[in-house]
Parts: sequence; structure tokens; C-alpha cells
Amino acid sequence: MSFPIDEAVARLRKEAASWQAPIVDLIAAQTEDPFKVLAATILSARTKDEVTAAAARRLFARVENAEALARLSVAELEQLIYPVGFFRSKAKYLAELPTALARDFGGKVPETVEELIRLPGVGRKTANLVVAVAFKKPAICVDTHVHRIMNLWGYVETETPLDTEMALRAKLPEQYWLEINSLLVAFGQALCKPRFPHCDGCPLADICPRLSVTPRKPPVAGAVQKAPFGSAQGAFAHKCPERSRRAVSEPAEELSLL
Ligand code: SF4
Repeated sequence: MSFPIDEAVARLRKEAASWQAPIVDLIAAQTEDPFKVLAATILSARTKDEVTAAAARRLFARVENAEALARLSVAELEQLIYPVGFFRSKAKYLAELPTALARDFGGKVPETVEELIRLPGVGRKTANLVVAVAFKKPAICVDTHVHRIMNLWGYVETETPLDTEMALRAKLPEQYWLEINSLLVAFGQALCKPRFPHCDGCPLADICPRLSVTPRKPPVAGAVQKAPFGSAQGAFAHKCPERSRRAVSEPAEELSLL
């Protein structure tokens, strides 16, 4: 039986209001500025959203655009963005960004994946996210959550995030391309976690095949009160460690995002 993607997206949309939106979406909504979305996306790689948000606030207090960014040294950038993950590499990429934008794109953030990946520190995941979030153009950002969840749903059967992106481009209805990343990142952070997906309180429990997921043991009667979905207690009371049917690994091709 194929996975009912329309039903799954409809249910996740309803739940999404109670989840924290990914930081890059928040910055896009607040600024509508492709330069800031790009810079925030670079900051957010392998970094918790709250750390990214604080670093972005400090950076954007000094840097409104590429010209302002060009006036900061790598050392100043390191200081501003610390403690985001890989802050030294990210500071170097940010310092190189104004020159690359001016040299190749007339100082503007380009709107296509193929152009964006020519910028320092920008891989496909970053590029897809910027195209989708900043420019609202069809693009699918496949991060570790999208790759993992699409595979455990059995919607795709892929080895790498790049394979997943290509499979989704061929299969996922285009109407979902822009939102699938933010939906699944929020879902993966709140509920369908990598190590302990909370299947008991999941709105997709009746339609998810849970491929590669080991169901939790039912609680002993009377020992644990089932907490309401979304509560802190509910979030950690039920653990069903995921086991890999295949290597579903963290993408390593880039210092890329989320
Ligand atoms: S049922 Fe479990 S594995 Fe399936 S989507 Fe929900 S939390 Fe994830």
C-alpha cells in the first residue's frame, strides 16, 4: 500500500500550529530579505534553533546587507556568531560571501539552486531552502529530518539526502514542495524524533508503516499515566528507538543546513 501523502500533510498542517517553526522560516517571515535568509541558513547548519536565532540577532544588529558584511573581519564574525556549530568555517564563508555575490551575481542573492551552490559554504540543502523560503519558488530542501521521515513512511526508498531530493522531485506533488521542509523539520523536532519517535501520540500513527522504527513496549498497566499529546511528559514518556533498515545518515556533503 502506498503512503497517503495528502492525508499525512493535511494532518501535519493541523498540528503544526502547536510546534515551533524552524528558525529560517521565522527569519524569512520577519525580514523577507533573501540576504538575511541566506546568512541565517548558513548559521543554522548543525545548530539548535535557539542558538541560531541569538547569533542571527547579533549578526543582523551589525549587518543589514552584503556591503555591511564586507566591512567585518573573519575574527569579528567569529565573535558575533559564536557558539553556532562550525563557527570558524561559517565566519569564513560569511566573510567570502560579499565578494562572491558582487563578482558573480551583481551583488544580489541568486534565485536558483545551480547558482546558489556556487557561493561559499552553500550546498544543495542550503540552496533549496533559500530558493523555497526566500523566493517562494519550487524547491525541496532535504535535510536529515525530511530524508529520515520520508524513508520511514516508505514514501521513498533512498540511501542519501540527494537521492531523496531527486525521488521527491519526481514524486511529491509540487503543491507541497515549499512547505515540506518546515513541516517535517518541526515534526521531527517535536514528535517524530530521530532516536525516540513518539508514535503513541502521533497523528499519523494509523497510517505510518514505521519502517525501521521499533515500536515502544506498551506501558505496564497503572505504572505510567499517558500524558496528553504535546506535553513535556508525553514527549519523553514513550520511547521507540529507531533502527536502521538502511543507512539513513546525517548528510555530510556540506556544512549545510538545519
Ligand atoms: S508513527 Fe512514529 S515513526 Fe510514524 S510518523 Fe509518527 S512518530 Fe514518526
